[in-house]
Amino acid sequence: MNTTPEPVVLDDPGTPAGTPGPKASADRTFDGGGEMGALMRSFDWSKTALGPVSGWSQALKTMVGVLLRSPSAMYLTWGPQLVQLYNDAYRPIMGAKHPEVMGQAAKESWAEVWHLVEPSFAGPMAGKPVMWSDNRALLVDRKGFLEETYFRAAFGPVPDETTASGIGGVLAVSTETTEQVYGERQRKTLREIATRAAGSRSPEQACATTAATLAENVSDVPFCLFYLLSKDGKEARLVAESGFGPGSGPANPEVIDLTASPASAVGWPLASTVGTQALTVWKDLAEWFGELPKGGWSQSPRMAIAVPLASPDRPHPYGVMIAGVNPHRELDESYEGFFELVAGQVVTAINAGALARAHADAERDRTWLFAQLMQAPVSVCVLSGPELVFSLANPLALQMGNRKEMVGKSLRAVYPELEADSPIFQVYEGVFSTGVPFVTEEFGVAIDKGNGPEDQFFKFTAQPIRDVSGKVTDVMAVSIDITAQVLARRRIESLVGELRQADQRKDEFLATLAHELRNPMAAISMALSMLESSGGDPITSAGYQATARRQMQSLVRMVDDLLDISRITRGTVELRKERTSLAALVHNAASVTRAAVEARGHRLEVMAGAGAFPVDADATRIEQVVVNLLNNAIKYTDPGGTLSVRLEREGVPGTAEAVLRVKDSGRGIPADMLDKIFDLFVQVVPSLDRTAGGLGLGLTLVKRMVELHGGTVRAHSDGPGSGSEFEVRLPLAPEELPGAQNAEVLASPQPALTAPRRVLVVEDMEDVRNIFEAFLANLGHEVSTAVDGPQGVAKILELLPDVSFVDVGLPGFDGYEVARRVRASPGGDQLYLVALTGYGGPETKVKVKAAGFDLHITKPIDASEVAKLVSNSRA
Ligand code: ADP
Repeated sequence: MNTTPEPVVLDDPGTPAGTPGPKASADRTFDGGGEMGALMRSFDWSKTALGPVSGWSQALKTMVGVLLRSPSAMYLTWGPQLVQLYNDAYRPIMGAKHPEVMGQAAKESWAEVWHLVEPSFAGPMAGKPVMWSDNRALLVDRKGFLEETYFRAAFGPVPDETTASGIGGVLAVSTETTEQVYGERQRKTLREIATRAAGSRSPEQACATTAATLAENVSDVPFCLFYLLSKDGKEARLVAESGFGPGSGPANPEVIDLTASPASAVGWPLASTVGTQALTVWKDLAEWFGELPKGGWSQSPRMAIAVPLASPDRPHPYGVMIAGVNPHRELDESYEGFFELVAGQVVTAINAGALARAHADAERDRTWLFAQLMQAPVSVCVLSGPELVFSLANPLALQMGNRKEMVGKSLRAVYPELEADSPIFQVYEGVFSTGVPFVTEEFGVAIDKGNGPEDQFFKFTAQPIRDVSGKVTDVMAVSIDITAQVLARRRIESLVGELRQADQRKDEFLATLAHELRNPMAAISMALSMLESSGGDPITSAGYQATARRQMQSLVRMVDDLLDISRITRGTVELRKERTSLAALVHNAASVTRAAVEARGHRLEVMAGAGAFPVDADATRIEQVVVNLLNNAIKYTDPGGTLSVRLEREGVPGTAEAVLRVKDSGRGIPADMLDKIFDLFVQVVPSLDRTAGGLGLGLTLVKRMVELHGGTVRAHSDGPGSGSEFEVRLPLAPEELPGAQNAEVLASPQPALTAPRRVLVVEDMEDVRNIFEAFLANLGHEVSTAVDGPQGVAKILELLPDVSFVDVGLPGFDGYEVARRVRASPGGDQLYLVALTGYGGPETKVKVKAAGFDLHITKPIDASEVAKLVSNSRA
């Protein structure tokens, strides 16, 4: 600056520089230099050790010119007294010392740090330059308190030939680095807190780590206290500190009651900081607590700052950090900002810790849960993420789907056999996306367990699993395999249906049975009336008698069938098995039905392979089987049909079977009825088939009888109109019967009349007794009768007949008693006794046997059976 020097009048009368000098310097020594130039020009240098400017050496003048024109902070001391001069840039460093210190001896103006800085002047005065770094604090009194300051400076000697030593003074070029030092110190502390507090597991730990870190920066934080609020927010508890050490006192109480009135409050007035969540500064601490921890300083902090540990997402702060303020530092925005950053980092650590804890808890819970689920007694799976990848599948789950591995695979990959839109996929995806659980008592899905997709049924629930934020992360599925139960239930349902049908069939049957029984009875009753009115005409009578007998036989057959069915059903059928020729039985059956075949104009062909076809069988029953099949063929074929019976041998000896096929050219059987016709009361066309004289019992009897003989029976038909074929298979006995016997049986199907026998009939009912007597006498036998028990015993023992027929219901004593007495009498055990009973139940059989009878016949009596029995009674 090139301005004309002008006298400067300063308002402040207290400043020496304000006093106008006796004369303004006329030379250009102080040209330029702004405020300091003006001050120097107006300064009365004659009062200083430098003397009037006119006496200054050229070196001094030159240096002052350099100083005033320099934009950098410069400071010059001159002469042995070190009189100081400084420029505009240096002025702020002087603070409140300026302007009094202009022209003063350095020793006076820097009195408080002279012991530290003196060598920086002495050295250059002796010709050696001195460097200052910024690593030492100078407590400079320039703001009304001793301020912690830092400088970087170079002190250099200024030559002056006019002096004895050749050195005129010292020039210092310096920069204040106080802010940089503060900044670096704070950054270091903040960095440390960030690293150390980051892994804190609890708010307490975050505070403790921070307090410990702050203890390493005692310059900025002489002491600190961390208080955390109780859950109800009513009190604050001390959790960490620095500077105080163990124990507690008025300034570091363990608990601060936040509800106490300000008057009775103990410790720090935290309530307002907590309430407003704003930073609070407390001054004049000495009045509250006296001495406080000083940190690195020799003075106790005068002020403290309280910063709430507040998180923006929480209505209340976690607590409050209280920190002592460095007594040598101004609490400006940057210093306050530092405390706020510290508190902010504590909050960040607490929040992160809470989150980490929640995650850790969740992870631990999950691990525990998974361990439990692996052992669950039901199938459990956990599927994770939108792709539904199995993260758990317990052994039962693997077993249920017959999979080796599921974990790590997606649901769709584990069940490739399911359609892309299978409901099971929709269920899982729905639970994952909506978070709504799915529960069902029965869920059906066709899973391939190795034999192609099969229906499986599950009791099934799918539940969402959420993370700490509530987001659905997995779906847990629990299933119980109820396939067996469902299939059983379905079987039961179908069985119940079948039973209902069977029951219905039985009802229908019973309703028609009465009617069916009435048909032959009506015919018999009519035939009897006609006989009465026939006037004894032998030809007419014979016709009526034949009708009555036929109808009677039909009645007897029906009742016999019913009784047989009932016995078979109750398992009380007794087979009298003996080695028999099946070929002979077939021929017998054919001849029994021949009359009926001829009556309908059918042609019957009987073809039997060579040999007797020996079977171990109850001959009567097996003959009945063949007769039943033949009768059906006759009935269900329109007149003029072709019937055949074929007997063949199949298989190798040992397992050889006799195969009997009864075939007709009749109406045939629909395919869906082929199995059912063997069931009780089943008829293909009930209305028609009943008219044909059946009750739907015949084939049931055939099947049961054949099965009782270890054989099978099956029906074949190519459908309605195509005829039917029934195939009976019976195991052949290992050895053939001697051929001769075969031939004989075949040759004589009808029993021939034999020698007369002596027969006794013990029967109280006159009609029966008379018919019996007439019938046997007719066959040429010698017949006697008795009417009651005692007479029966007497006559048997007296006549010793070849056969005695004894009715069990007799007057005097009953038939059982007759047998017992006869057997007890001498020679009585050699006699042949036959019991006649109306009922053939098991109890009766037992009684008959116990009484000593040889044989038991149930009424109505089959005349041909009686005839056969009598003729065979004595060899
Ligand atoms: P039914 O007393 O009615 O003949 P079955 O048990 O012997 O009773 O036969 C059952 C039903 O099977 C018959 O009602 C008839 O509908 C059918 N059926 C049996 N044998 C034949 C056959 N040879 N041809 C056609 N249908 C037959």
